[in-house]
Amino acid sequence: MARRGARRSSSRPKVRYAVVGLGYIAQNAVLPAFAQAEDNSELTALISGDPIKLRRLARRYGVEHTFTYDDWEEALESDLFDAVYIALPNHLHHRYSVMAANAGKHVLCEKPMALSEEEAEDMIRAAERNDVRLMIAYRLHFERANLRAIETVDSGALGDPRAFDSLFAMQAKPGGIRLRRETGGGTLWDIGIYCINAARHLFKDEPLEVFAYTANSGQARFDEVEEMCCAVLRFPEARLATFTTSFGASDIATYTVLGTKGCLKVENGYEYAEPITHELTVDDRTTEREFKKRDQFAPELVYFSDCVRNGTEPEPSGVEGLIDVAIIRALYRSAETLKPVEYHGPARRRRPTPSQEIYRRPHREPELIHSSSPHE
Ligand code: NDP
Repeated sequence: MARRGARRSSSRPKVRYAVVGLGYIAQNAVLPAFAQAEDNSELTALISGDPIKLRRLARRYGVEHTFTYDDWEEALESDLFDAVYIALPNHLHHRYSVMAANAGKHVLCEKPMALSEEEAEDMIRAAERNDVRLMIAYRLHFERANLRAIETVDSGALGDPRAFDSLFAMQAKPGGIRLRRETGGGTLWDIGIYCINAARHLFKDEPLEVFAYTANSGQARFDEVEEMCCAVLRFPEARLATFTTSFGASDIATYTVLGTKGCLKVENGYEYAEPITHELTVDDRTTEREFKKRDQFAPELVYFSDCVRNGTEPEPSGVEGLIDVAIIRALYRSAETLKPVEYHGPARRRRPTPSQEIYRRPHREPELIHSSSPHE
């Protein structure tokens, strides 16, 4: 495929996007977010294997250009969009991102970035080679409650942070991409990544070594991936992070940071459809704070479009995605061998900071077309 001219920065007032893959997250969160990112972002193309989704969603969102995967190369050759939002299953992130970057399109890719360090590094190289921006869609890097948690730890209010602990679980619907090996399923790839990412940024470090157990109750829906995983991440300065992920337990998304002087509990910390709460206890005094539900996807579009227009490197960069991929792979290796596995990946200098917060109000739940929630 001929490579189109690389765009260091864009002189257009709005970055034009194609959303690739019109499943749950695209329909429930990404497409509706464009209405609140209209200052600098515009939805101009949809890519899907389902003609009914293409027709109905194009009409709903006033999108003129639609393509099937068979037309993907033709779409990339066109000048109908500047950037892609990859909302495909995990096993397709690498292939579609690299092709888009090679065609001179900027890439905003869902988490997890890829399914191996090699794939992730290839995506980073493709973006560098073609001078396009690559961002991994870590929505919590722009979300107030999570950024405030980082700020609270940084302020020293908890004393020296010693431990992080987290539970993230749901009852996953049988047959979905999360439960199929071929599509990159597994609890660590889908939800464990949030716990790892939170621990890394609350401790401002990368782990030295990790250990994991997986467990499986033997239900048919867990034939291909683990039902549950329990992980330990050993960080520098003798800090420990532990978390449990499950696709076979009731909904929960909490984390706690425990320091020498206090403790911060965050309820619904990884959610986008619920309010998030903080419970901060310092010197036996507890204060609670609620952070109202907000749109967490429009901020990603606004931020990424700014990076594209200004030619700046996004904070949730390819390297940020690569570190989580490397940690997940190390955890699965540990679960297989029942031995601790050292982490030898890159270290991150840039971290999410409160200045990255972007507020957009929540929107109504859209009607889904040939799609449903991953929750049973
Ligand atoms: P879905 O299964 O609901 O959607 C994936 C879509 O990809 C399908 O609907 C289909 O769309 C398209 N697709 C193309 N090829 C395949 C294939 N071989 N198998 C299955 N689907 C295919 O998944 P989600 O929307 O829940 O997840 C998509 C991505 O978004 C994942 O990487 C996931 O980790 C991430 N995600 C992120 C969240 C967040 O909060 N940031 C939350 C949920 C998911 P079409 O019919 O249009 O071709």
